[in-house]
Amino acid sequence: RFINIQANCLPGDPCPGVVLVLHDMTELRRLENLRREFVANVSHELKTPLAAIRAYAETLHMGAVDDAENRGYFLGQITDQSDRLHDLIMDMLQLARVEAGQEVFDITDVNVADIAQWSVDSLRDKAAAKDIRLIVESAEDDEIYVRADEEGLRTIVGNLVDNAVKYSGKPGDVLVRWHNEGDQVAISVQDNGIGIPLEAQGRIFERFFRVDKARSREMGGTGLGLSIVKHLAGSFGGSVDLKSNLDEGATFTVRLKRCRVLTN
Ligand code: ADP
Repeated sequence: RFINIQANCLPGDPCPGVVLVLHDMTELRRLENLRREFVANVSHELKTPLAAIRAYAETLHMGAVDDAENRGYFLGQITDQSDRLHDLIMDMLQLARVEAGQEVFDITDVNVADIAQWSVDSLRDKAAAKDIRLIVESAEDDEIYVRADEEGLRTIVGNLVDNAVKYSGKPGDVLVRWHNEGDQVAISVQDNGIGIPLEAQGRIFERFFRVDKARSREMGGTGLGLSIVKHLAGSFGGSVDLKSNLDEGATFTVRLKRCRVLTN
């Protein structure tokens, strides 16, 4: 622990005794370290695509612009890196808003099946390119609704399905399922991809944490998706957890408050 000790004599006091004030600095130090680490991460993450864009632009200036094949390649790289920068900035802004409690949510009754279907539909092409089957399954006969912000729940399930596709081998299956658990609904996204090593599981929801940085970047990842998922789930009074074995895939489960069941 970091203890700040001050020993004071009172003015005019011949100092017969000493007043000791002990401040426990551990939490302050931890927060300061987190802040420093975050700023360092942000600068690094922003500098990497910027440096690449600059290098490609300079190479074009220095003559590559006259060579049709090289020109196409460099311009393509500039577009990709700009997209990356855009995704990163959008994710950082969203995370900052959610963390600061500034995001305005419209909490309503959200139909889980609609969100699950939307998530897999929007990733169908990406999954098909990797020969991955996307399966949506409810364990309940009734329609299930949870209390959440609809856009926020799309972000949660969309991010989890996107990750499941990104980190799955070829071919693979991604299952989006849900069932009732007391007064909650457990929505899980399961894949049979590369999985997450045990030693990384405790840090997986931290900002910018990636098991394999190079692989995440190559897949277009920002390292912020799971932090956003965790904060959003928390904002709706829910939680998210992970079960995974290396090389056997991962299952992320989001638990949210069930609001009502409509019988058919
Ligand atoms: P990224 O944008 O890098 O995917 P995330 O915050 O979404 O960032 O995920 C953090 C890290 O967790 C990823 O870089 C990856 O190492 C790991 N990860 C997330 N989802 C999965 C998954 N379904 N299978 C294996 N690893 C995963």
